[in-house]
Amino acid sequence: MLLRGQKIARVGHVGRHGRAVDARGLLVFPGAVDAHVHLALPVAGTRSADSWETGTRAAAWGGVTCIADFTIGATVHALSQAIRARMRDAEAAAVDFTLRAEMIGWRDDRSAELAGAAKLGVRAFKFYTAYAESGRRTDLGTLAKAMAHIHALGGVAMIHAEAQELTDPEGGPWPEARPEIAESVAIAELGALARATRCRTYVAHISSAAGLAALLTAQAAGAPLMGETCPHYLLLSQEVYERSDGVQYTVTPPLRSDADRRALWSALRKDQLQAVATDHCPFLQTQKLAAPSRARVPSGLGGLPLLPSLLLSEGVATGRIRAQQAAWYLAEGPARAFGLWPRKGAIQAGADADLLLWDPLAEWKVRTDALASAADFSPYEGLRVRGRIVTVFSRGRTLRQGDTLLATPGRGRFVPWQE
Ligand SMILES: [Zn+2]
Repeated sequence: MLLRGQKIARVGHVGRHGRAVDARGLLVFPGAVDAHVHLALPVAGTRSADSWETGTRAAAWGGVTCIADFTIGATVHALSQAIRARMRDAEAAAVDFTLRAEMIGWRDDRSAELAGAAKLGVRAFKFYTAYAESGRRTDLGTLAKAMAHIHALGGVAMIHAEAQELTDPEGGPWPEARPEIAESVAIAELGALARATRCRTYVAHISSAAGLAALLTAQAAGAPLMGETCPHYLLLSQEVYERSDGVQYTVTPPLRSDADRRALWSALRKDQLQAVATDHCPFLQTQKLAAPSRARVPSGLGGLPLLPSLLLSEGVATGRIRAQQAAWYLAEGPARAFGLWPRKGAIQAGADADLLLWDPLAEWKVRTDALASAADFSPYEGLRVRGRIVTVFSRGRTLRQGDTLLATPGRGRFVPWQE
């Protein structure tokens, strides 16, 4: 492979040119695209722990060379205003990024704002079918109209799928309050809307076998749905909530059973999902402990610096999935879903020179304080990881070499939706 400037110039035999990187014994993957990240997100009266600077440095350390975050939706701002504001927040980014416009308090008469967002390079829009209590819910009627507009724009709807009526907001982000039937019912409803509107629809953080079954049923009926799951649904299960530090594992949707975990791995093996993404939204331990009640614990887990490492260790090194499948879930799948491909997520001439080099024979242990993130809790602390990221390139520049992190804040660039 030949890199020239910030791009991949050629793949295959390249003869002798310039500086050579010896990758004998290593696997080369496209730099990972984390399709689901929340940096400095205001939640429950506090803010997620990683800033744009710490979060994107943690991404670079972990081999994630492009993140997809969100605008901070609000009823009072036009989408274009929210996009511009979030781009200013992102000026400290050390890796490239894209944005989805979060739709809060959406009304039919705001449809014209979609075209304004598209002019700024944003054609993906985030909706919640739950969280009525914080005003974030979009009802199905409004969602259907918005999806028709998004389809006309050639964009994608990203949806947090939980049926409001089947959750208990007072019960907080815990399994009994947010059961898997809330997820499966919402995904079935989205399937019907996506079929009717032909809007490409990306279902965020599928956590359960029931949710997965609803996705596959809708797809088989012709709905253009794409599914995402996250490392915590693949690696962790609900028993952790019984531990003394159980509150630190609060996340929405909540962690499920081992049978659910097995179903999600099986879906990955069968090429049934679009992406594995982190939903990175860590809080400091004190932030979770400070919640006035169990129902008000800020919900979210960290994972950004470990995304490729965990999928390669638990997926590829164990033989559950093939290396090519990992490259799809970590890079090509999410890049295609959000209009970034082939500039991102591809190893081919003309793509950005974003690469990670992985040593399949090395082993290491997760230490939370070595992850470059601001978070002081990782659900993976002490986990033995098989394989190790040796080098990370972003647009031709080295961001990580061995244990040395070379990513500088401010180098990350916004990646607009590619036509
Ligand atoms: Zn999220």
